[in-house]
Amino acid sequence: MGGKVNSRICYTKPSITSIEHMYVDDAIRTGWGDKCYDYIIKFEKAFKVYIGGNFAKATSSCTGALHMALSAIDVGPDDEVIVPDITWIASVAPITYLGAKPVFIDILEDTWCLDPAKIEAAITSKTKAIIPVHLYGNLCEMDEILAIAKKHNLIVIEDAAEAIGSEYKGKKAGSIGDFGTFSFHGTKTITTGEGGMLIVKNEAMLKKIEVLANHGRDSKIPKQFWCEKIGYKYNISNMQAALGFGQMQRVDELVEKKRQIFYWYQAALTGINGTAMNPEKEGTKNSYWMPTVVFDQDIDQKKLIDILQENNIDARVFFYPVSLFPMFDERRENTVSYKIYKNAINLPSYHDINQDEVKRVADCIRKFLLR
Ligand SMILES: *Cc1c(COP(=O)(O)O)cnc(C)c1O
Repeated sequence: MGGKVNSRICYTKPSITSIEHMYVDDAIRTGWGDKCYDYIIKFEKAFKVYIGGNFAKATSSCTGALHMALSAIDVGPDDEVIVPDITWIASVAPITYLGAKPVFIDILEDTWCLDPAKIEAAITSKTKAIIPVHLYGNLCEMDEILAIAKKHNLIVIEDAAEAIGSEYKGKKAGSIGDFGTFSFHGTKTITTGEGGMLIVKNEAMLKKIEVLANHGRDSKIPKQFWCEKIGYKYNISNMQAALGFGQMQRVDELVEKKRQIFYWYQAALTGINGTAMNPEKEGTKNSYWMPTVVFDQDIDQKKLIDILQENNIDARVFFYPVSLFPMFDERRENTVSYKIYKNAINLPSYHDINQDEVKRVADCIRKFLLR
């Protein structure tokens, strides 16, 4: 037992089995020439069916997927796009690539996602789109957000990078807005190493994205190497798509594993007062990408992370308010965002973590609070 007790607990790492090995091996051996898109087509199809979206375009990252979605709806200089203040910067950076302005809105205290009541007050004649982010697997208030978008004629781009498998009123996260984006970075619930997916509602928009994704080349125009406009190069490779296709065979298992890990944490942390974890509101299913603890009092976050590190456990700080980064103007009126990030941490949740390891993490949190 001795050595095992102190074995390293990483915060994430993918689960790869012989299924994925088989497809990736096949892609490397045979997926070239006229078969160089086969796994991309298979991956997109499997993903689209799973999410219940109309069209799916695989990309080299979620950042690229967001960039293309914003570009396809002609976001440009002078436009404003509404984003939650708490998210990973990848939800925000693509807005700035197009010269537009991100407008940072506060989050709700319970879901840690966009506060719909605050959105409406921030809408101006320049507002083009809203990017709700389903943080850590938690669900945004999609009915309210869609109603606001409809009333003001705004596009909704769901950033579901952290929420594959989450559901809102029976619909999968990422299938509800005009667009949905996903990430397959190595830390996410399913992975292709690096990679992403863009879910698109209508076919005209899909065509626009296909031209954008192909350096502005339109497949309807028969001239070789002819470009109609400046586009992007955000393609996934066939080899990565083979890995993604393998992961999609196991997506239900991988999501269920995340839910299991969350329940283990919930059980191990019962009786600790003053903490909240990822909510699962009525009518939603949380895929719990990252089990997270929020403390209702000001904590010494560094001390907590030190205690975990001393016990060979990786933990992550909650995302900072993006408006706190030096490139943006602070928005201290986002009081929930500016308080929560200091008093919360993400717990390790790689798929193969076991219940004893979860207990080890919980014991550290107890030790920290009883100090
Ligand atoms: C991971 C992540 C992204 C970016 O994904 P990449 O594939 O790394 O570009 C975007 N938004 C959120 C909320 C994320 O967590």
